[in-house]
Amino acid sequence: MSDQLAIRLRGVVKRYGPITAVNGLDLDVPEGTCVGLLGPNGAGKSTTMRLLTAQAIADEGELEVLGFRLPEESKAARAQCGVTPQLDNLDTMLTVEQNLLVFSHLYRIGRADRRAAIERALEMANLVDRRDSRVDKLSGGMRRRLLIARALVHRPRLVLLDEPTVGLDPQVRQELWALIDLLRAEGTTILMSTHYIEEAERLADRPVALVAREEAVENLAARLGQLGQRRLGG
Ligand code: ATP
Repeated sequence: MSDQLAIRLRGVVKRYGPITAVNGLDLDVPEGTCVGLLGPNGAGKSTTMRLLTAQAIADEGELEVLGFRLPEESKAARAQCGVTPQLDNLDTMLTVEQNLLVFSHLYRIGRADRRAAIERALEMANLVDRRDSRVDKLSGGMRRRLLIARALVHRPRLVLLDEPTVGLDPQVRQELWALIDLLRAEGTTILMSTHYIEEAERLADRPVALVAREEAVENLAARLGQLGQRRLGG
């Protein structure tokens, strides 16, 4: 069985009418590793993330997350996953801390542990000083950090990050990378989608290509080949 794999996908297909968004994907993510799902716009990265959280249901293939089969056991899998969507869906009228509190309830963290869980998430995301700020007063980078902190509040075994740094300036991207480094150091398994090759190279133990459009395939494959060689060569 796949008890050392946090994610195991075999032959996964997802179609939207005539469009095949994910075409026969095989993917292994071993526990404790960070895997980067690389691909150009439209390659199926977000669809793969949605399949992993059972927000979308595959037409074909086998999916296991943390040893649970999807979609049948998706509720059990989701309880141990942290997810950051590509689009910021924070509650802008609430403060940083209140956003975390709402999620601590959603994830059923017991009353006795709630305070410590929120403090830890604030510290990891470097938002302790901004705990009382309303979300609509935060910078874009802070909001993105909060989005990740919110996904960590229940200490998930697996974190799914859908393009966590898209559209951010280089300095803010570095801040996000530091946060992802912290998570990795704690041994959390991470699957991160990105279309930045340098991001996958910097953060992931293993970049995995998801390629859809002919034009992009060649470049990406070539760049991934270089990455692979550098990694293999140490
Ligand atoms: P991006 O980086 O732009 O987010 P992506 O790699 O995440 O791209 P997806 O959003 O997974 O790609 O989309 C893959 C393909 O599936 C695209 O052609 C997209 O138009 C199509 N698609 C995704 N979701 C739907 C949907 N709900 N209905 C119809 N088509 C969809």
